[in-house]
Amino acid sequence: MANLKLHSKIVPSREERLNTIVAFGGSGEELVKNAKKGCLKQQERGFSQAAACAEMMPICNSAMLDGNVVIAHSPIGCSAMLPMISLFNKLGRHMRGLPLENVRSISTNLGEHDVVYGGTQELEKAIIEADIRHNPPVITVITSCASGIIGDDVDAAVNRIQPGVKATIIPLHCEGFRSGAVATGYDAFLHGLLKVIEKPGERKKDTLLIVNPLSISRPNEVEIERLLNKIGINVQWFPLFTNISNIKKASEVAGATTLCPLMSNYFFREFEQKYDVPFAEPPMPVGIEFTDWWLRDAAKLLGKEKEIEKVIEDEHARIKPELEDIKIQLKGKKAYIGFNLAKSLSLQSLLVELGIDTVVTTGFEYSDDYGLAPLENLKSRCSDFTVHIGNFQHFEWANLFNREKPDVLVGGLELGGWALRQGIPVAPVLPQTFFTGYEGALSYGKDIVKSLKNPSFAKNLAQRVKLPYRKEWYSENPFKYIGVNGQ
Ligand code: SF4
Repeated sequence: MANLKLHSKIVPSREERLNTIVAFGGSGEELVKNAKKGCLKQQERGFSQAAACAEMMPICNSAMLDGNVVIAHSPIGCSAMLPMISLFNKLGRHMRGLPLENVRSISTNLGEHDVVYGGTQELEKAIIEADIRHNPPVITVITSCASGIIGDDVDAAVNRIQPGVKATIIPLHCEGFRSGAVATGYDAFLHGLLKVIEKPGERKKDTLLIVNPLSISRPNEVEIERLLNKIGINVQWFPLFTNISNIKKASEVAGATTLCPLMSNYFFREFEQKYDVPFAEPPMPVGIEFTDWWLRDAAKLLGKEKEIEKVIEDEHARIKPELEDIKIQLKGKKAYIGFNLAKSLSLQSLLVELGIDTVVTTGFEYSDDYGLAPLENLKSRCSDFTVHIGNFQHFEWANLFNREKPDVLVGGLELGGWALRQGIPVAPVLPQTFFTGYEGALSYGKDIVKSLKNPSFAKNLAQRVKLPYRKEWYSENPFKYIGVNGQ
């Protein structure tokens, strides 16, 4: 068992802890083979167009803790995502019946003077300002490359100021330069929360804690609750849209599982070690097979293996006619799937069940922990497909869209605009999209049908925009810049 890392301020990067890679281009079969041989680490990118920053996860996720004020201890640009997150936050709050509120944030706006003389005074001022202005129950302090490079002792500043502030102050150490894997930011966020979770009082014997990221919205939670409630399991969602008192009591549950194994990986291992909460990390419950898999693992945590089989059987019989009808409409279509790999593989499982040919699956990073089992499962259920791992490499996406010419992109905000500009309709999975469980399979299947029936926006857009790359690039190998040592 790994040593408890809670005593340390900083979580190890995903590259250090899980051998995560952020560069791969090849077939699913090749990825599985190389992963099993331990050869993936040699894959590097010789040219990188862009990269998302791991600081994005703590800043965006902590913005959605109920009552929180986010303090970005950084230059102003590092918190540029917050206005968009405010929209997700409002949608999420609305769907959960919480009062509509804007995200509350303050930036210390580190500049040249602070970088030379240190920025902790500005941080202390910002914490006091947040306390006076909002009287919040919790304040999260987000570090950045600038605060990390100059060596600001954020914890010392927080410890100095905490006695005079009512809010629980949680430092989240997530300097963007530390990791190329965005999911390291999830670990930094949940590492901070782990430090405030308290020892359990009485255990809630029929309750599962379920980790859910911001991209899987309330209708998906309702579906999971519907299925688990049938066998007497209650659900406690964690950590978004939850207040600090519930976060502190998170350890009172009888078991824990996740809607996103990419997000929960670090958290569960530490949570189990510190609070003795058993966990299960199946792939996301999307499509029939992966929902069955997820439900069986979740039910097993509470000894309800037999009961869940009846639910699975009934649900299969109930949705079969409608599923068959959707399949007829999607027969022979080709899809490109573009999300993080945990979500991409789960959606791929649903698309395979709908009879769609899945030509490309994209991930921003790959780890065996959440990638290998679903990849092996899919390998046995569909013809081989391309896997593209890249941390926001738009030029590779554009090349792949052009090469594969899919009928539809099943994707999120990140890839959607690029597909549309190349004339490919998008069946988006956005913060309000319903796609988990059995009902979600039907709902999202119908969304794909709708997108395929309405391709004119993508077609018209493609005729009117000029793509940013030279035409020679589209006849190159999309993975030209990926190889051993980037060669
Ligand atoms: S933390 Fe670093 S990598 Fe992230 S946005 Fe700020 S400067 Fe950029």
